[in-house]
Amino acid sequence: MAELLSWQIGDVRVTRVQEQEALLAPENLMHVLDPARLAAHREWLVPRFMDEAGQIRLSIHALVVESAGRTIVVDTCMGNDRPLPMGLGTLQTGFLEQLERVVKREQVDVVMCTHLHFDHVGWNTMKVGDRFVPTFPNAKYLFARAEFEHWSTSRAEPKTGDVNVDLAYGIAPIVEAGLHELVPARHMLTDEVFLEPTPGHTPGHVSVRIESRGQSAIITGDMVHHPVQLAEPTWGSHPDAEPERAIETRRAFVARYGDRPVLVIGTHFAAPTAGRIVRTGGSCRFENA
Ligand SMILES: [Zn+2]
Repeated sequence: MAELLSWQIGDVRVTRVQEQEALLAPENLMHVLDPARLAAHREWLVPRFMDEAGQIRLSIHALVVESAGRTIVVDTCMGNDRPLPMGLGTLQTGFLEQLERVVKREQVDVVMCTHLHFDHVGWNTMKVGDRFVPTFPNAKYLFARAEFEHWSTSRAEPKTGDVNVDLAYGIAPIVEAGLHELVPARHMLTDEVFLEPTPGHTPGHVSVRIESRGQSAIITGDMVHHPVQLAEPTWGSHPDAEPERAIETRRAFVARYGDRPVLVIGTHFAAPTAGRIVRTGGSCRFENA
């Protein structure tokens, strides 16, 4: 398990707690529409975001945001003890111990899931005896209303061969405990931290903006999985539910945050995880902050 990484944005502190890192072929994550362009990007991708053999790195991590006396956990990874989809088996990691080096679970005020995929709602719950109970018993778990409604209607009935781990383990126990709260896609979590709609990966997907003392950051969520997609916004991720809308969202994101003093914190970006979008001759790259 990787060391904690953290960043200061004005008065706000963001700390990365990693659950796992994966290496995979680029085509297994996204539509690589032009392999020659991918080869050209290797110059800035290797070694941080791609290894020498051309496999890309993806990190699964949670981001702890401390703002105005509140502690917010943005996305909660995959979780232990449950059967995961995509052949991932069942995890037993030390994620929670690592997280508790930053904040005790009883002291978390808010859990914010950017969307409701299984790798973002896992540690919403933990197994105690034979039950899954809320990991953060004193937190409000915020879900964007459009996202929650999409998942409760489209995914309520399990499909054959598709384990609805997200709903069964990550969401249902929270709803049963009455800890969830549905919020609009534009919503203030504190005076410094607020949601911004970034739909396409899922219909109600949100990113998390931070503004404090003239400094800015944005936590992407899965509107982008890998830094190369900032340079190539048309290279959609296979799990994008609405591919055209996802491309529009990535284009708008790069237009809004490219060449700006905004720290982009990637929800699946490998270390250093945070950086800036820098335009270079018709394209752009992601550079260490
Ligand atoms: Zn994800």
